[in-house]
Amino acid sequence: MKKILLYSGGMDSWLIDKIWKPDEKVYVNMHTRYSEQEMKKLKLRNENITILDFPLGQFEREDKIIPLRNLYLTMLICNYTGNEDVDICLGATAGDRVLDKSFNFVEKVNDLLNYLYSPQWWIPAGKKIRVNIDFKDKTKSDLLDMYLKAGGTLEEAFNKSFSCYEPDEEGHECWSCKPCFRKFVTFADKGFTFSEDVLKKVIPYISKEIIPQIKSGTYGRGISEESLILSVYEKYKDFDTV
Ligand SMILES: [Zn+2]
Repeated sequence: MKKILLYSGGMDSWLIDKIWKPDEKVYVNMHTRYSEQEMKKLKLRNENITILDFPLGQFEREDKIIPLRNLYLTMLICNYTGNEDVDICLGATAGDRVLDKSFNFVEKVNDLLNYLYSPQWWIPAGKKIRVNIDFKDKTKSDLLDMYLKAGGTLEEAFNKSFSCYEPDEEGHECWSCKPCFRKFVTFADKGFTFSEDVLKKVIPYISKEIIPQIKSGTYGRGISEESLILSVYEKYKDFDTV
């Protein structure tokens, strides 16, 4: 079976690539509001990624949700791989709450796709498909541990992974958006040393945007993540300029 990772360009998919070792990484350019920035960053990093064009961005909602996204994408990869059997990793992780990255979805989509690709006149041998969410129970921190255990370094993971929603013109991370802050917390927890530049941006963001949510009980990602954020903030609070 050919292993294909649906690559989003974010930190999770960067780590899953190093751990799962797919035969091919596929980034689907859906022409969303962030596609151009993502494409720019992928090109800057010069990684070996196949880019497929599929303009689902036309159905993108204000909240960035594209309904049925992973149903379309798994179908797309089936067509892209022709008659070859394929194992498709959706790159879902513990933070994902959408239903098209759930175990239920995977079971149903595997059932449907394998049915449609069962042996018939146009494909006499049929095609086997396995859509997987093998990393669904892993947090960013778990993925980073797995990557380090496999011989990776914190420096490489920090410098080469990328999650930012609002990068600047040259593709630098803003360090004051949700994915940037979550990446920061994950690395802080592992004892990574940050530049002052990063700390001066991310600590005020945490203080202004995240801590009030934790204090009012609306952050909603569980007590262990919340206490980790608070302890990381405590460690670096001298950089809080608010
Ligand atoms: Zn950012």
